[in-house]
Amino acid sequence: MTIIDTERVSALDAARSEFRDQLLASGLLVGTSVPGIYGRSGAFESIVAGLDRLLAEMVGPLQAQVLRFPPVYPRADFERTDYIASFPDLSGVVSSFERGDKEHAALLSARADGHAWDGWLDPTDVVLTPAICHPLYATLEGELPDGGATFDLSGYGFRHEPSNDPMRMQSFRMREFVYVGTPDAAQLFRDSWLDRALETLASLGLAVDAVPANDPFFGRAGRMLVSAQLRENLKIEIVVPLYGDLSEGTAIASANCQRDHLTAAFGILTADGAVAHGACVAFGMERVTLALLRTHGLDFLAWPEGVRALLGL
Ligand code: ATP
Ligand code: ZN
Repeated sequence: MTIIDTERVSALDAARSEFRDQLLASGLLVGTSVPGIYGRSGAFESIVAGLDRLLAEMVGPLQAQVLRFPPVYPRADFERTDYIASFPDLSGVVSSFERGDKEHAALLSARADGHAWDGWLDPTDVVLTPAICHPLYATLEGELPDGGATFDLSGYGFRHEPSNDPMRMQSFRMREFVYVGTPDAAQLFRDSWLDRALETLASLGLAVDAVPANDPFFGRAGRMLVSAQLRENLKIEIVVPLYGDLSEGTAIASANCQRDHLTAAFGILTADGAVAHGACVAFGMERVTLALLRTHGLDFLAWPEGVRALLGL
């Protein structure tokens, strides 16, 4: 990195920390001892709820099937995806105590001595959901109806990426619209809903832009996946600049062509028996809310009338 790059990175870090401090001071977010784990205030949740209503209106014509899953899902399903290969550093597996009295006594004695006690825990059969469409795919094995199927999902996802950037949380909500069906229909879904998503977010006064995305795949094999993702234009992110020229912007939503990535893993077929393709448009609920707060100010009662009206605030 050149000196200028280094200076820019530390100026960006400082700008992110300053924004986080403002959010904490205003009570919109409540900090904990772990970076990226926050409580949300009533005002923050009012904005999230307004956004949820607006997105529901946006996708009304889709008549998507509404489904909600909890923030954990079966480890056996997780193992059918390649998440642990691509993102081991972001993954979270739930552990619990499954041993006997003797081991429990040893755990308690280690704890009393101020030593680590989690070595007595074992991984359970659930993992923290990394992306809220994963539990859905696991339920779709078999043939889809003619014309495919469309789903409206919402819930908490977990990614182990502790950060002082308030936009990068470890536990956050996504609202996601997923289509599974023929390859052409999946591509069309992605492209048309990307445009609708851009329009909707722009109507809220956000300075959105659409850019090809590269995911932080892990390791050497991961770098090849990144170049394939870019080359084939599989993932497009909707970004908003939050810190002027200091960064290219932060992704508040993404539109993805998953091709047969998850459908093949879970044996999901179109009505004529071919492997289906999946596509999704995902909104980061906290990120959109934070982008609104950054753009229009921390007091939503002082936001432009039109934006408040759209969000019912
Ligand atoms: P990034 O590139 O910023 O890490 P991502 O590409 O991993 O994001 P997706 O997998 O596309 O994100 O997830 C869908 C949406 O969820 C993103 O567009 C973003 O709005 C939101 N999101 C992703 N990671 C986080 C996070 N750590 N904290 C808050 N929101 C997030
Ligand atoms: Zn998805």
